[in-house]
Amino acid sequence: MTYEFDLFVIGAGSGGVRASRFAAGFGAKVAVAESRYLGGTCVNVGCVPKKLMSYAAHCSEDIELANSYGWNASTQGFDWPTLIENKNREIGRLNDIYGRLLENSGVTLLNGHARITGPHRVEVNGKVHTARHILLATGGWPVLPDIPGKEFMTDSNQVFFLEQQPKRVLVIGGGYIALEFASIFNGLGSETHVSYRGDLFLRHFDHDIREHMRDSMTAKGIKLHFNSEVQSIEKTGSKNELKVTLKEGGSLLVDCVFCAIGRRPMLDNLGLENVNIDLDEQGLIKVNTEYETSEPGILAIGDLIAGPQLTPVALAEGMAVARRLFRQEEYKPVSYENIATAVFTLPNIATVGMSEEQAKAAGYDVSVFSSSFRPMKLSFSDSTERIFMKLVVDRATDKVLGCHMVGPDAGELIQGLAVALKAGATKAVFDDTIGIHPTAAEEFVTMRTPVR
Ligand code: FAD
Ligand code: NDP
Repeated sequence: MTYEFDLFVIGAGSGGVRASRFAAGFGAKVAVAESRYLGGTCVNVGCVPKKLMSYAAHCSEDIELANSYGWNASTQGFDWPTLIENKNREIGRLNDIYGRLLENSGVTLLNGHARITGPHRVEVNGKVHTARHILLATGGWPVLPDIPGKEFMTDSNQVFFLEQQPKRVLVIGGGYIALEFASIFNGLGSETHVSYRGDLFLRHFDHDIREHMRDSMTAKGIKLHFNSEVQSIEKTGSKNELKVTLKEGGSLLVDCVFCAIGRRPMLDNLGLENVNIDLDEQGLIKVNTEYETSEPGILAIGDLIAGPQLTPVALAEGMAVARRLFRQEEYKPVSYENIATAVFTLPNIATVGMSEEQAKAAGYDVSVFSSSFRPMKLSFSDSTERIFMKLVVDRATDKVLGCHMVGPDAGELIQGLAVALKAGATKAVFDDTIGIHPTAAEEFVTMRTPVR
């Protein structure tokens, strides 16, 4: 059997673009179909625009801080449309770069929705293409709860294109997206509420980090509603005003209800009924360790499969697929251990390895080192913000199992420590490392006395 393409990739997001470019670079004949935007979620409605908006939100604190250093800094206020316009221009520039990257790699780009019509067959814009391998990389989509008034909610695809800044916003959820946007709205001056269904948000993070973050967000003026659920949303007579009724009692009047309660795999009209692909109980595509689905010749990566939903993970999986199919001698399975991650709240959270609770649940007898201190940069300011750092260490082997931080640029710092953890660093290695002074980071190599 001869095929038109060696590899047909569906979705030109983080994973799909990486797999396409590298497969083409290894000599394969590759096509990629994209229905919405080059670069996928990360570039268009995810990591990149979110980080740009987070920078914008930081500016208000920076302006205040400048005054404590003697600057006569003031602001005429914040203009949301300028931020959105500049953000859109930057994303447009990145879309073009992605297009050129694909073109220069020799990948055939098909603009349109792709649908599998049978084994080795994909239809785009009415034309059926054949391929030896098909790679599904269609990512995820925001989920909304089925409650009265859900049509008034804003999801994470829409939030990046709001025409006006909401004066009052209710954020629903207690994960990455909810808390990042609560920080963005609050930093830009919106009255910000967060409704989270449990006792304390960021469920999978270290408990101390979660508590520190709760206190930091409260100190910054975000109104946190725990054990809270939204029952219904209705429009009031006032322009754009929404009345949110809470299950626990009471109601809120806001201009925007931003919902971020997780994402589902994007399988809409993908034609899975025409092949034999198994899904797991969460509706994600089941794959083996080499990303093969139950249908021979079809693979899947990224947010479509179980595992951390992070851009660098999708990139690594895309790379692994390209190598395994077309450069076997360079193939290396993705290592899912000690994946560092950051939540771009104000202040940032970053973490690598196990939380204290996860380490204990895994049977480790742990020592815990932690430190909470005022950032030197805030010496002249009235801010009560504190940096928090924590190390979780295995008593039996002295190996550092987890590093956790809340503080400015935590992601920049934890990325380096992730290399140390990957290399199996012990606490003794951390102790032998001379710090860089004066930095916040040096605290990670000077914590000597365990707190437990
Ligand atoms: P995607 O990047 O989602 O790409 C899928 C592509 O497939 C899309 O372009 C889509 O249009 C296309 N597609 C779908 N169906 C079809 C079809 N049938 N035919 C053709 N094309 C199709 N991760 C981080 O690491 N750091 C962050 O800071 C971060 N911030 C985020 C912020 C937000 C608001 C969100 C929503 C996510 C964030 N993520 C972040 C997660 C990250 O964006 C995803 O993990 C990553 O984009 C997944 O890559 P992917 O290749 O699986 O899918
Ligand atoms: P998360 O899984 O991070 O958080 C979902 C939140 O919604 C949790 O607090 C969860 O609560 C809550 N929730 C789930 N279902 C319901 C429900 N039915 N009603 C009310 N609350 C509910 O998902 P996000 O949508 O925030 O983000 C999706 C993924 O995107 C993240 O997991 C992350 O992998 C990625 N991402 C990464 C970022 C980064 O790297 N900085 C930034 C943004 C996204 P509970 O904990 O109780 O289940």
